[in-house]
Amino acid sequence: MSRDPRYDILFEPVKIGPVTARNRFFQVPHCNGMGHQHPQAHAAMRGMKAEGGWAVVATEECEIHPSGDVSPYVEARIWDDHDIPYLSMMTEAVHRHGSLAAVELVHNGPSASNLYSREVPLGPSHQPTNYYPFQVRAMDREDIRNYRRWHREAALRAKRAGFDIVYVYAGHDLSLPMHFLQRRRNQRIDEYGGSLENRVRLFRELIEEAKEAVGDTCGVVVRFAVDEMMGEDGISSEGEAKDIVAMLAELPDLWDVNLSNWKYDSQTSRFAEEGYQEPFTAFVKKLTSKPVVGVGRYTSPDRMVSLIKKGVLDMIGAARPSIADPYLPKKIEEGRLEDIRECIGCNICITGDMTITPMRCTQNPTQGEEWRKGWHPEIMPAKASNDRILIIGGGPAGLEAARALGQRGHEVALAEASTELGGRVNLESRLPGLSAWGRVRDYRLGQIAKMSNVETYPGSPMGVTDILDQGFERVVLATGATWRKDGVGRSHAFPIPGLDTAKVFSPDDIMAGRLPDKGPILVYDDDLFYLAGVLAERLAKAGLEVIYVTTADTASSWTSNTLEVYFVNKRLHALGVRVICQHDLVAVRNGVAEIAPAYGEAVQHIPVGAIVPVTARLPNDALYQELMAAPEKLKDAGIKSVTRIGDCLAPGLIAYAVYAGHRYARELDAPDLGEVKFRRALPLVTTP
Ligand code: ADP
Ligand code: SF4
Repeated sequence: MSRDPRYDILFEPVKIGPVTARNRFFQVPHCNGMGHQHPQAHAAMRGMKAEGGWAVVATEECEIHPSGDVSPYVEARIWDDHDIPYLSMMTEAVHRHGSLAAVELVHNGPSASNLYSREVPLGPSHQPTNYYPFQVRAMDREDIRNYRRWHREAALRAKRAGFDIVYVYAGHDLSLPMHFLQRRRNQRIDEYGGSLENRVRLFRELIEEAKEAVGDTCGVVVRFAVDEMMGEDGISSEGEAKDIVAMLAELPDLWDVNLSNWKYDSQTSRFAEEGYQEPFTAFVKKLTSKPVVGVGRYTSPDRMVSLIKKGVLDMIGAARPSIADPYLPKKIEEGRLEDIRECIGCNICITGDMTITPMRCTQNPTQGEEWRKGWHPEIMPAKASNDRILIIGGGPAGLEAARALGQRGHEVALAEASTELGGRVNLESRLPGLSAWGRVRDYRLGQIAKMSNVETYPGSPMGVTDILDQGFERVVLATGATWRKDGVGRSHAFPIPGLDTAKVFSPDDIMAGRLPDKGPILVYDDDLFYLAGVLAERLAKAGLEVIYVTTADTASSWTSNTLEVYFVNKRLHALGVRVICQHDLVAVRNGVAEIAPAYGEAVQHIPVGAIVPVTARLPNDALYQELMAAPEKLKDAGIKSVTRIGDCLAPGLIAYAVYAGHRYARELDAPDLGEVKFRRALPLVTTP
């Protein structure tokens, strides 16, 4: 297949100072939870994107000095020459595929913790650090001179590590040049504070000095947050950002522009559409002749072309779309648009960085496994046997297992009880804001449709006899899970008294469209992730009065890890949902819910029309248990193995179900001996 000529424009080279990107696809810096602690995994992950056609592949933020240490978060590090070999692994992996490697140099200033280095944190003025119960000290002139020297030395080191592009980073409220720009932080009265020109001085000096140090061979680019979404109190695209871009317009070799802070930059599909940053960043190109990069969860090639043609961007920046599909550029280049695995905008990837673990992705189960398991996002090993596989259940686990086994060349049949394939993805993607999650199903159905060795059978509820009659060698149960109605979960080991006789609607009921007819509806969130919040939204939008009770400090508290918690709470408030935090549902009597506070004694009594407990799920594994109870029958039917995957084994995230399906297909022939199944980056032990 060859590409449609209307996408040719995306494959034009772009000059970035002394270096040239081979096309317009730019993987902008993104965190990944690997950083300096997992250098091999990090290098392989970045290298995969170069292989997949991203012309520029950047690191995440790369700390330049121990006084800007963000421990325990694991980012890249370039404190001294010892870091060079680790970073070189990445630049070599990127160069191997003809792409440019970029490094985002950072000193985190008031956003640093210095929990590891124990240095005193630095900032433009005396002020509390962003996240910790201690303060930064105001930098004096000598500190500023030192910082400039560290930055320059880091740029020189980056060049020695093989980087082609060096970033000066003023974004996300995470780096000193940004902190010096902000009026609210920079209250200096010297030449670095006060007027905008003075506040820009440090940013300008860093760019000039990086250019002087490495600009002969490296592109020196900036990442600049043009809007902090706080109006006059911050940098804003209607205010000072325009003046800042105008003042520095031709100085950097490229402008990478975005929103700040991170929750605005990486908004989920639940709260922002593809291209959501465009209204804020569009002005930049009018003020500079240098190439401009921007992000906005772009996965549509037509949208990309229009951005270039309209003169909004010169290069298509992407973090998440490059995680979900490292091969996105190559697929456009080869005219294989239907093969693109589009990011669903769920931010499970971000939970990796937030929980200080290598990131994972809902759409791309090989993400993070490139080095440690040797998994390639596009290539599967050929089948090692002629085993035919029967999969029961067409949710994310069953669909990915079918797709991946099909890619290996196995003969596969997928039986699904309902008339639609997709399982929980169908149900959840119909909830408010989650329609993009349907891409998990659509990508897999699209791939399966092209495989003559995979057959799907919707509308086929399977029992033991059906399975035994089919004559497949292997059986996979991907039959999902069911939400409990009895309140058992984190806070209750035993059923909540009174729920058995109360009007209870489970999340499955609501998702299937079975709604209570009158409120108030008490949504009890003891699950703490997204679902209770989305269900409350669904019910409120159906015109019902909703009371949201959670054991946590805030509604949908774990969505802090997907950067959504602020938006969730704002939305519930806007919908008039009454949120009661730090309370537990302890009983229901005669249509009255009793909720007890975490602190204090006073139990509240709330009359309710119905209760929606969001607490825990139980696997739908009855079929598995029945099959396993009849080993002789399995043997007679020629069945070699029966395996549970996804929610049927242990209810989890959609990402886990996809991963489980993929893993089954990869490891079908590998005996499970219970050993560690991946490579680890172990610290080098040296004798003094
Ligand atoms: P997962 O997230 O693990 O993929 P889902 O709940 O999304 O799980 O999907 C499970 C699917 O399995 C559902 O679509 C359900 O209809 C289907 N299913 C459950 N039991 C059977 C069965 N006995 N025969 C066929 N399909 C089944
Ligand atoms: Fe996109 Fe979700 Fe994958 Fe992140 S985890 S890249 S948001 S699909």
